[in-house]
Amino acid sequence: MSEKMLKFVNIDMQMPAKRTSEIRTEDFKEIYNRFVHDKAREQSSRCSQCGVPFCQIHCPLHNNIPDWLKLTAEGRLQEAHELAHSTNNMPEICGSICPQDRLCEGNCVIEKAGHGTVTIGSVEKYITDTAWEKGWIKPIKVLKEINQSVGIIGAGPAGLACAEELRKLGYKITIYDRYDRPGGLLIYGIPNFKLEKFTVERRTNLLKESGIKFKQDFEIGKDISFDELRKKHDAILIATGVYKPREINLPGSDLKNIFPAMEFLTASNRKGLGDKVKNFDNGTLNASSKDIIIIGGGDTGMDCVRTAIRQNAKSVKCLYRRDRENMPGSAREVYNAEEEGVEFIWLSHPKKFIGTSQISSVLVERNKLGKADSSGRKKPEPIPNSEFEMKADMVIKALGFDPEDLPKLFNSSDLSISTLGTIKINLKTMETNLPGVFAAGDIVRGASLVVWAIRDGRDATIQIKKYLEHKQRKDVEAA
Ligand SMILES: Cc1cc2nc3c(=O)[nH]c(=O)nc-3n(C[C@H](O)[C@H](O)[C@H](O)COP(=O)(O)OP(=O)(O)OC[C@H]3O[C@@H](n4cnc5c(N)ncnc54)[C@H](O)[C@@H]3O)c2cc1C
Ligand code: SF4
Repeated sequence: MSEKMLKFVNIDMQMPAKRTSEIRTEDFKEIYNRFVHDKAREQSSRCSQCGVPFCQIHCPLHNNIPDWLKLTAEGRLQEAHELAHSTNNMPEICGSICPQDRLCEGNCVIEKAGHGTVTIGSVEKYITDTAWEKGWIKPIKVLKEINQSVGIIGAGPAGLACAEELRKLGYKITIYDRYDRPGGLLIYGIPNFKLEKFTVERRTNLLKESGIKFKQDFEIGKDISFDELRKKHDAILIATGVYKPREINLPGSDLKNIFPAMEFLTASNRKGLGDKVKNFDNGTLNASSKDIIIIGGGDTGMDCVRTAIRQNAKSVKCLYRRDRENMPGSAREVYNAEEEGVEFIWLSHPKKFIGTSQISSVLVERNKLGKADSSGRKKPEPIPNSEFEMKADMVIKALGFDPEDLPKLFNSSDLSISTLGTIKINLKTMETNLPGVFAAGDIVRGASLVVWAIRDGRDATIQIKKYLEHKQRKDVEAA
């Protein structure tokens, strides 16, 4: 064992410095500073180099974490970067936005032993940011292009990861996306203070330089039929994500200034990218000087509350029907939001939206927790006569997402879907019921995580390759 490791006994856990809440709420930049080199080496050296690394088991990509921590501690950063990239297409993005407290770091053995986790995500980001700066990350050079093409619907992390892996193998790839920019929710969902957009843009530019074609502003089912697209390519991957907002039907739901989360976040992200956004510029989707109420305690809700704070809202309150312990969002994000001035109204839900033409207040009812439901979490039950009114100029609904009706949008009624509306695949081959059509990411899993979308995109590559090789053999035999 290198003498450089197992330092958790003497060295305390330290995250990269977090900007103070007063300073960071003045802008949309990431809230953590980067590790300086010595700090990254020091923090990596805390790893206990477990024989059975639970961090690796609980990382959806099974990243070889102990080995790249050791390489970092030894100052062998180029090797650390190559190892990190061998299992992950976007290590710096995962390092920034994975909920590490629920994945790798939450299962770190020294964390369990009470010493504080190795700061795996921050080191992963440090290694890859360094690789970008040093010019170690290069476009793919295809030596022998294979005369078979794959059409990928959706330029989110699942589609991008699959495109990159297939291109490395030599296939011709076209990605189709209805947004004007590639990146999916990495661009228009997740705010800058968690993930600055240049990190997504340099990834997609790299793929363009690798010979992958991008067709933006191009919607399957509208600009081309799904059947026509299938005829253009030897295989198809559907990676369209989930975008139908879950609704809340209450008296007053149709009042003005009640918005779904993605409308609010997309407008804010577009402004950050320098776009003109009419409904933001005229104040409609801008939280500035307003009393804002956000409904929902998941990660999307946390992104909305913290965006509203940065837009200089007068007040930002979050209604969540259970308590802090039962909240679905990452504990780290809730803590960050509280630091920034968000007020959480635990154990509460909206009962009525009040106003004449636009919202002016919300009637809120208190809950208590009853017995655990099928999800294992305690069920919220309304407390009789506990209603109170809260002033609101704008309400944002962050209640989750469901899949759109893809068979209808694609005019492909034979595409098999589950009772939840997600695409049904053969779990071994990742193929749908339509031959040569594969699916990956949120559209299969339901709303999930970036790291799982990358994993699915990589797994789909293996299956698409098998399918294409088999197809080629059959074509040769038939000729
Ligand atoms: C606000 C918000 C914050 C989040 N924060 C985090 C986080 O911090 N960490 C984390 O790990 N995960 C987070 N997630 C979840 C994560 O973003 C998703 O799980 C992930 O992006 C799913 O990847 P995907 O490739 O399956 O789909 P998406 O990223 O949704 O990409 C799908 C793409 O398909 C395109 N598309 C859809 N239909 C069509 C069509 N008919 N024709 C052409 N193109 C089409 C869309 O335009 C989009 O670009 C967050 C999600 C949201 C909404
Ligand atoms: S990809 Fe995510 S879960 Fe895996 S090591 Fe990186 S931060 Fe942890």
